[in-house]
Amino acid sequence: MNSRSGRSQQIKHNYTKIYALTAALCLVVGLIVGLTVAHFVRLDETPAHTEGPGSPTSLPSETGPLPTETRTEAGTSPSTTEPPIGAISWVSKSSADIKTANPLLPVSAELPFTGMPSGVVNIYAKRETRNDRKLQLANSQISVNEEALRAFEELNFALIESYPEFELLILAGMPTDGTTGSLSCSDGNKELPASDHAAGYALDARYTTKVDDKTVSYQFSDPIVALQTAFLFEKGAKLGIIQSRVHVEERTSSDLRHLRYVGIPHASYIYQNNLTLESYLNEVKGYNINRRLQIALADGTLYEVYYVASSGDTTSVPLPTENVQNNTYTIYGNGTDGFIVTLKK
Ligand SMILES: [Zn+2]
Repeated sequence: MNSRSGRSQQIKHNYTKIYALTAALCLVVGLIVGLTVAHFVRLDETPAHTEGPGSPTSLPSETGPLPTETRTEAGTSPSTTEPPIGAISWVSKSSADIKTANPLLPVSAELPFTGMPSGVVNIYAKRETRNDRKLQLANSQISVNEEALRAFEELNFALIESYPEFELLILAGMPTDGTTGSLSCSDGNKELPASDHAAGYALDARYTTKVDDKTVSYQFSDPIVALQTAFLFEKGAKLGIIQSRVHVEERTSSDLRHLRYVGIPHASYIYQNNLTLESYLNEVKGYNINRRLQIALADGTLYEVYYVASSGDTTSVPLPTENVQNNTYTIYGNGTDGFIVTLKK
């Protein structure tokens, strides 16, 4: 190789280095510009999803600027029941959704259930076995909503853990023959649409146990099982289950068999405040998105509950965008005039 071609090689080599450096510099600058643009674009984006599994029937939602009434005033520090309002999203609900089957739907002669139950399963086919134990059934035809079934099973497993010789014996669930003939509580005297069992969230039950190798069953009200019953109702409340008529004055012993799933955290609040489902729903009507009912569970989980009045054929239900994005909310019709929003914080 002569000196001329050597110099030429050197120049080429230098150019190559310059090109490489320039390319690297462009890449870095491009990356910074790209990230900055992406950041601002993200700030301008509206949430891609404003529906969650908690509202399977919800219609496409609307998002928009903050309504003026939800802005906190400058200089005021929100109290614990008036949390700071951040970005709000809306989920549309139809007037029919007010009476759609859901864990908080009250059913009575005044509020008959004529809709379609949803998510109802046969307990015999779907019950879980844990350590060779499971819910005991009076027959193989008993049905209930699956979310409720999981709560009743957890209650049974908790009972077994504390009182290993006991199990829950399920007597009746959602009637599948169109009548109340299968029910064990006083709902057996009603037309089916007026029964709390109609929407699929109630079970009639008692204990089953062994005495001298013989299977016997006890009503919850039997003094001999007072300890177990005190445990059962307190634990049930933590799992979303209430004795929906226990606080009603004219209760009968047969109604003590009647258990109703309303969901966490509502059962906890109903139990602690000695309410019925109906009086609870009335109380919740005193709350709105700016002033929410706060329910703290023993494990530290915090929930917020509020009411949104129906505004005709379609109601835009306001929700914190954060809960919408994280799917940590439910919207349930209250059976009469609006919706109950539950947020998990
Ligand atoms: Zn019943």
